[in-house]
Amino acid sequence: MASWEENVRKVDPYVPGEQPKEKNIIKLNTNENPYGPSPKVREAVFDFDDLRKYPDPTVSLLVEKLAAYHHTTKDRVFVGVGSDDVIAMAFMTFFNSKKPVLFPDISYSFYPVWANMLGIKYELVPVDAEFNIVKEDYYKENGGIIFPNPNAPTSKLVSRDFIIDILKANKDSVVIIDEAYIDFAKEGSSVIDLTEEYDNLLCVRTFSKSRSLAGMRIGYAVGNAKLIKYMNDVKYSYNSYTMNTPSILYGVASVEDDEYFKETVKKIVDTRERFVREIKNLGFLVLPSAANFVFAKHPDRDAANIFEAAKKNGIYFRYFKQDRIRDYLRITIGTDEEMDKVIEFFKSYLN
Ligand code: PMP
Repeated sequence: MASWEENVRKVDPYVPGEQPKEKNIIKLNTNENPYGPSPKVREAVFDFDDLRKYPDPTVSLLVEKLAAYHHTTKDRVFVGVGSDDVIAMAFMTFFNSKKPVLFPDISYSFYPVWANMLGIKYELVPVDAEFNIVKEDYYKENGGIIFPNPNAPTSKLVSRDFIIDILKANKDSVVIIDEAYIDFAKEGSSVIDLTEEYDNLLCVRTFSKSRSLAGMRIGYAVGNAKLIKYMNDVKYSYNSYTMNTPSILYGVASVEDDEYFKETVKKIVDTRERFVREIKNLGFLVLPSAANFVFAKHPDRDAANIFEAAKKNGIYFRYFKQDRIRDYLRITIGTDEEMDKVIEFFKSYLN
């Protein structure tokens, strides 16, 4: 090894799902939305010559739009380049204790990557045999807590009361609820409003799933003004201009079209319910999903085999070769037509 190499920060990076180049595949591996973004986003125009200027470092247009959308004030909203950027900033800002940060063992696989890279101590808290997060396991000293609700890749939702209990037991640490998939859960599942009551609660959201804008990279967090100020201090110490000008305007246009948003979310939820019924009839065991994906296994078939066979048929699922979940496939909900093709594939595969 050359001597300069000894001083390199060596990390095990997060591995995102494949983004295959071929067209005409059924891509159900990264929880993207099968419908396009709101047509209002297409209509949003920015002055091309304005690109010579730096974007607004405070992202004020989008921050104000999101504050109004959530009936709150702009000092309680932080915007970043996808929720990955928002969560990474939150790790840097809030997880600075010698005590371990707690998150579930089966959860978003980026959390341990950020913690490792930033030198943050953490503890993986096992979910139970049915993949439920056990709240009592979070009633202990810690340097912070984070989990997605609904959890990924399990798709399981916990109730608001469950989160309130965790907040009550953890007044001395920041609790981050990653609501990437919350729009696909039943109404009233979000805890964004609880940020008014609990000054240590941060809720993170993304435009990548329910708003169909994964390609624009837009995420945000809502929390107490003090939390948001601390996050902005870190952001401005790292990169002031994270959001580019088109992203900001497209994000605003998306939030303005609530009708399209609700319509597409409902379509996906309806397709999910039908798809779950159909594959259960084929013998699959499916965890109750509150997300735009399902987590399923077949008791008699090897998940890795199904995954490979589906790929040969142009259908991409996500498979995690990981303890506890190697029997499962994570399947994003696409259009009705796409899910019909998946069902057809399963029928012929199982025969
Ligand atoms: N949180 C969870 C639980 C996710 O599954 C994802 C998607 N990979 C993200 C956050 C990040 O999404 P994005 O950066 O596109 O907002």
